[in-house]
Amino acid sequence: MPLTVVDHPLAQHLLTQLRDVSTPPPVFRTIAKRLTIAVVLEAVRGLPTVDVEVDTPLERTTGRRIYPDLVAVPILRAGLGMLEAVAELFPEVSVGYIGLERDDATLLPTYYYEKLPPVEGRHVLLLDPMLATGGSAAGACASIASKGAAEIRFVCVVAAPQGLAKMEREHPDVPVFAAALDRDLTDNGYIVPGLGDFGDRLFGTMPAVHDVPG
Ligand code: URA
Repeated sequence: MPLTVVDHPLAQHLLTQLRDVSTPPPVFRTIAKRLTIAVVLEAVRGLPTVDVEVDTPLERTTGRRIYPDLVAVPILRAGLGMLEAVAELFPEVSVGYIGLERDDATLLPTYYYEKLPPVEGRHVLLLDPMLATGGSAAGACASIASKGAAEIRFVCVVAAPQGLAKMEREHPDVPVFAAALDRDLTDNGYIVPGLGDFGDRLFGTMPAVHDVPG
């Protein structure tokens, strides 16, 4: 399972803003989108293309277009923060959704939703910003692979060693693309140093200060 960490200075600059606890949700959303573009540019290297003829204002020439069109599958809900970037880069993309919820006690994922376009023979970008325990990523890969996808590429923002190890064991053929490989997981499954709960920071659902125990 090859891992590519995008160490482009712009990607690292954006990641630092995402990590910063003082970055508010509206800015977090914008930065997450920009960083996704940087990681996806790496993730789509080597996708199959076909030659197409195109008329420039001066003459006919041969160009290339990605074929077949990509499929993007965000894992709900945090993966939604990466979808707009992919849809802007590839307007022809087909989009599916997988909903997986992590049980806070067992940290195991359970499915609550799946809606996929035909994936047989197609190249799938699976989007989930935090590869933590790897349970959701591995479960989603298994489901997409069972439907005959030609290839799955997993695109995230931050990966943890535990998540990578699980992907290596269960889906060694799925390459992982990230902006960072972090140090560890906390006991309740958060990546450290990480950036906190990506979905909460994206959608502004962090516990209010007065809700925090103690
Ligand atoms: N999901 C998140 O949003 N953050 C983590 O650190 C781990 C999983």
